[in-house]
Amino acid sequence: MLGQMMAQPLLISSLIRHAAQYHGQTGLWSVETDGSTTETTWGGVAANSARVASALTALDLPPQARIATIAWNNRRHLELYFGVSGAGFVLHTVNPRLFPEQLVYILNHAEDRVLFIDATFVPLVAALRDQFETVEHVVLMGPADTEAAAQIPGLKSYDDLISGGDPGFDWPEFDENTASSLCYTSGTTGNPKGVLYSHRTTLLHSFASNTRDVIGYSARDVVLPVVPMFHVNAWGSPYACAMAGAQMVLPGPDLSGAALTGLIGRYEVTLAMGVPTIWQGLLHHARSAEVRLDSLQRTVIGGSACPPSMIAEFRDRHGVETIHAWGMTEMSPLGTTNTPLAKHAALDEEARHRLRESQGRPPFGVEMKIVGDDGAELPADGATQGDLLVRGLWVLDSYFHRQDEEMLRDGWFPTGDVATLDPDGYMTIRDRSKDIIKSGGEWISSVELENIAVGHPQLADAAVVGVPHRKWDERPVLVAVPEDGETPAEAELLAFFEDRIAHWQIPDRVVFIDTLPRNATGKVLKRSLREQFRDLLQPAG
Ligand code: ADP
Repeated sequence: MLGQMMAQPLLISSLIRHAAQYHGQTGLWSVETDGSTTETTWGGVAANSARVASALTALDLPPQARIATIAWNNRRHLELYFGVSGAGFVLHTVNPRLFPEQLVYILNHAEDRVLFIDATFVPLVAALRDQFETVEHVVLMGPADTEAAAQIPGLKSYDDLISGGDPGFDWPEFDENTASSLCYTSGTTGNPKGVLYSHRTTLLHSFASNTRDVIGYSARDVVLPVVPMFHVNAWGSPYACAMAGAQMVLPGPDLSGAALTGLIGRYEVTLAMGVPTIWQGLLHHARSAEVRLDSLQRTVIGGSACPPSMIAEFRDRHGVETIHAWGMTEMSPLGTTNTPLAKHAALDEEARHRLRESQGRPPFGVEMKIVGDDGAELPADGATQGDLLVRGLWVLDSYFHRQDEEMLRDGWFPTGDVATLDPDGYMTIRDRSKDIIKSGGEWISSVELENIAVGHPQLADAAVVGVPHRKWDERPVLVAVPEDGETPAEAELLAFFEDRIAHWQIPDRVVFIDTLPRNATGKVLKRSLREQFRDLLQPAG
């Protein structure tokens, strides 16, 4: 024997054990479904997750049985994160915004045995209960409620279930490659596909998240994950915060600008993360109510491209640093974060600001490359764009129960994004490959046009889609949502693009709409916009 180090498996239970032991008194605040707020600690979360684990173990479920949640970001959901996976079961977080038939599909496909729900979803689950083929127990995340129980026969209560559980439950040890949680992609076409994370990938993703150039949660942070816990595990923040012993504020169902501004002020939130649409609401509210987000130091924004105007508003009005991040469900989700390199300190202010606009660079653990239509690698020169492929320590190999479908190309996962890479690894998303606009043999990035459009003071939201055109194949059309009833003139909006982009890339038309159609994870449904406006430039017939 040469002598070596201990070989301890990387397990989710070790995160909550650590948080309990070294950050047991650290506070967490949770907005419940009825709007009330409860306060707990990592010690309290640990004790309850042990109770959850022991209560579930007593139900005699097989190892890796799937346990579903349909719930907001709240204290009980956090306890389930650790209790379910820690006990050796798989936590399946379900997006309540899915169409009912998709919801039924994924619960049956995942073969969920137990379903935990927030009160909000009692009517939804009551209507679909008969179609859930494998669910044996439905548990309301709260105290016993006779009204809810009348709607769902056999409904149990979380508080009753765990009251008999053992807070000193002995966490089992098993292989770190065991599955820990399951999240379905929203699937704009076809049925949603499941991404099954393991204890090992979750822990490695947490370590990476906690490095300083990624997110770097700290024991001194008050973290507000606005990104839902049913959306790629709130970007892994519950795990990474337990690892760091960070304080957390779980915002519950109300994600309005007013509610979030209130939480940030009340709990002196230092770090918040979410998708651009949510921050649009927050910034709008802060502007009209003349609130400054004094405590907030950093926001992590991803899920869709973060417009440069949003980064600037956070910076200039609130003194907040934005970390633009890119990822996907298939990547747990972190792929890149935008933080600078040492050499960038020498740049002038404007160049430094511009540098922060891209989706950023990969941490250790993720590799990226771009390829052309023939699969050959393209240069990382900051200008050439191609299909983005990734591989790494927390990247999907094959979808849940679809192992027969080869997802990888020579060991690389095709992201479906079109991007440029620069020599330092900074990546800029140009588009989803299916959304890029092909005009006269050239490509136009809808993301770039949208980033410009939302910088117009009279627009609340915008999407750009390619619409069929007799001469150019496709031309960009701007679908714009005016800010509070002030509709700007079409010509004025189009003039706004002058000098901001090459002339031939300026949209041909602007159409106004009240709200953009979005899928369950908040992404704009461009397919439906393309459908709606297909005859705009080229009348049918
Ligand atoms: P998530 O929304 O958590 O990132 P999804 O799997 O639902 O995960 O969506 C992944 C896709 O979202 C990416 O392939 C990319 O097209 C888009 N996306 C995510 N982050 C960004 C970003 N910062 N800029 C542009 N597109 C993004």
